[in-house]
Amino acid sequence: MTGSMNSFEQVMKNIDLKLSNLNKRKGVGATLEGVPDIYKNILISQKNLVSKILKENIKDIYSLPAGEKTFDRPFIGNLSINAGSVANLFGLFIQNTPFYNISSGLNNNIEKYVRNVFNDNYDYLTRLKPDEIVLFEGFLRPFLESMAIYLRSKFEQGDSDNMDNFSNTCSFCGSEPSYGFLKSDDETQNYLMLECSKCGSAWRYYRVQCVFCGEEDPSKLEIFKSDEYGNAGLQYCKTCKNYFKIIDLRNDQTLIPEIEDILTIPFDIWMHKNMPLEISANAVL
Ligand SMILES: [Zn+2]
Ligand SMILES: [Zn+2]
Repeated sequence: MTGSMNSFEQVMKNIDLKLSNLNKRKGVGATLEGVPDIYKNILISQKNLVSKILKENIKDIYSLPAGEKTFDRPFIGNLSINAGSVANLFGLFIQNTPFYNISSGLNNNIEKYVRNVFNDNYDYLTRLKPDEIVLFEGFLRPFLESMAIYLRSKFEQGDSDNMDNFSNTCSFCGSEPSYGFLKSDDETQNYLMLECSKCGSAWRYYRVQCVFCGEEDPSKLEIFKSDEYGNAGLQYCKTCKNYFKIIDLRNDQTLIPEIEDILTIPFDIWMHKNMPLEISANAVL
């Protein structure tokens, strides 16, 4: 499956880009008490994982259904995944992370959890501790991202409806977006771009609409900005009492939303302390 190998190479490039960007933005994250370091270790682990996959040319990780484009949403449900071969790589992944003392069943049940995710069953989230979720999702990210890249390159030519459907969930893996971003190029300038935390897919959404409840009245959607976190705004919905982070890349397109999201975590904490919230809108907290 040459396509998937190329997409793993693309994932590798993306990881390198994030690492160099994180390094460049070091000063900004200085007050974050080690969070950028944990994230950096996860990126390094992802890189080791992908280089092993590329080196050993593992071909049996996943396969696509044969024939024409007949996918239902989310696409991930149509892929056939070898959960055993994915799970075998988990040990390699955790060698470089600061999570050595994982106490729950994550280690023993990794194959089961991998299978659950690829069957669109996320109830493992209720059984794992937050740091274990960060670890597990960091491990899965290269697989999900490479699949998303591969599927997009294969099926998106000329007809992007399935991938770009103005939904509030990811067309590829069905997950909720973790943040949005604004860009100024022709295809994106009038939209709010949403980005999936699990597979990295980004897609267009309406500029003025709550991603949680669909509220469209601008007077119900309040934007909080801070001089300290100038690239980030928090959109608070007075109707459903949730908030959504929006990273503004219009003045600096070299910024990477995933990294800006982490560097602006104190802004999330401010929101949690100062506004009434229905649910936690950020899994990191
Ligand atoms: Zn996704
Ligand atoms: Zn809302």
